[in-house]
Amino acid sequence: MSDRYAVVGNPIAHSLSPHIHCAFAEQTGEDLLYSKLLAPLDAFAECARTFFTEGGCGLNITLPFKLEALDLADQLTDRAAAAGAVNTLLCQEDGRLLGDNTDGAGLVADLCRNLGWGIRDKRVLLIGAGGAARGALLPLLAEQPAHLHLANRTAIKAEQLADDFSRYGDLSGGGLQGLRSRFDLVINATAASLDNTLPTLPEQLFTAGGKAYDMVYAAGPTPFVHWARTQGVPASDGLGMLVGQAAESFYLWRGVYPQVAPVLTQLRRELGKKKN
Ligand code: NAP
Repeated sequence: MSDRYAVVGNPIAHSLSPHIHCAFAEQTGEDLLYSKLLAPLDAFAECARTFFTEGGCGLNITLPFKLEALDLADQLTDRAAAAGAVNTLLCQEDGRLLGDNTDGAGLVADLCRNLGWGIRDKRVLLIGAGGAARGALLPLLAEQPAHLHLANRTAIKAEQLADDFSRYGDLSGGGLQGLRSRFDLVINATAASLDNTLPTLPEQLFTAGGKAYDMVYAAGPTPFVHWARTQGVPASDGLGMLVGQAAESFYLWRGVYPQVAPVLTQLRRELGKKKN
């Protein structure tokens, strides 16, 4: 019988994860089944436990259950503990659940490998202070940027987060209003693009050669991607991060690292078709 995996969330119908993992399985010859699980908002733990009791091998966890998945895990990877959230669960041989967070690694892989935008010695601005920003901090700092500044609409949250992670690198935090420096890489980790809005940002934000990245992805340019491109700044959405985090989960589960580029190209093509 094939090994079983799934993505659990609420809502879940929109999830591209089954498509991505089936493509990885086909590409690597791994024998697995991957499905979507809609968990009731008040019954994530029950739903996940039933999946594993019935022989499931691993789960991806999406909104709004990443914090509950942290509580469910018996053991955490360092990056999941630092992120304070779990997006991947692995049922180990002894039945204990290992919780991981692959979002930040997926982001860094997309920036450095797919896009070829180095982080080392760069001045990086991370906008947002929610779960996605928190998960990205450790992997970003591991790339040794010259400086990482965290800016959030609610300034105190960015200041607190910068404080929490200050031992890992050169990090500062503040509000969106006080932004005066220029940055080589600006990453939008807010949910603003989901509402078709843009965080309030100054125009003079990019160095010459600066780049912009939105964690949100869409069939067309997100508001943030559009805003950056109108200033002549190369910009990418977060589809590659989605495929990258999936590749990291696949590696944790199967011990095989799939090729991201062909799956990303195929997904981009399909999203484009939906738009037209
Ligand atoms: P979250 O925990 O709810 O945090 C939301 C963040 O967005 C907060 O910092 C919030 O600021 C800010 N925000 C929301 N609307 C804003 C606006 N109009 N202007 C300025 N700031 C605004 O969400 P999350 O889990 O961090 O996720 C953030 C985004 O990342 C989501 O859109 C999600 O889809 C995306 N994401 C993508 C991937 C991927 O694989 N591509 C993976 C993970 C997450 P306040 O603190 O002031 O409220």
